[in-house]
Amino acid sequence: MNLEYLLFDLDNTLYPKSSGMGKEIDHRMTSFVAEHLGISPKDAKAKRIRYRDNYGTTLQGLVRDDAFDDPEEFFNKVHPTDIYRYIEKDPRLREMLLNIKIPKSILTNSPEEHAKRILKYLEIDTCFENIFDIRFNNLEGKPAIELYKKVLKTIDKKPENVLFIDDLELYLRPFKEIGGNVLLVSENAAGKDLNGIPVINNIKQLSEYLETYLKNAFNL
Ligand SMILES: [Mg+2]
Repeated sequence: MNLEYLLFDLDNTLYPKSSGMGKEIDHRMTSFVAEHLGISPKDAKAKRIRYRDNYGTTLQGLVRDDAFDDPEEFFNKVHPTDIYRYIEKDPRLREMLLNIKIPKSILTNSPEEHAKRILKYLEIDTCFENIFDIRFNNLEGKPAIELYKKVLKTIDKKPENVLFIDDLELYLRPFKEIGGNVLLVSENAAGKDLNGIPVINNIKQLSEYLETYLKNAFNL
């Protein structure tokens, strides 16, 4: 068995959650829902939790439960363009990614333009073959199984030969269920395993993780 492909989430995975970018997007999504539905931010927050539990994302909840039909407006409003305010550059990330000689793509529930902005800012835009964004599967993002299957088909890999890295267990679980390898990035998680899912605290531990933990499972 070989590890042949790496799929990376973008937000809160390729930069730390504590950077504030993810929090800002989250805050903007709550404001958007509150404004669109004419409810309080507190109620909007509760609604978003239900959206995520039922459909995986805020956007899917808006579309399916509340007849929302302008995803482009949603994308424009919730993704900050002044990335430098939130994320710190770190040349070691590029170095590490370049040293991992396995093809890589992005799998994000954000739109491509947001992903490109961040990848370019972090100077890692040339490290990835593809960006599978929220439009790739007709706005149905992670954790939809059909999305994972469509991505695997596009990269022409079997799940057992792919490692998918994300900061949300909710998105990793279905990929693991179809036979894929998963890795959680979580700054606060203690230990090296969360409900059977291996954890690193920062993406820059990936290279060490690949060497130490997968050496026995794969012929790297
Ligand atoms: Mg994320």
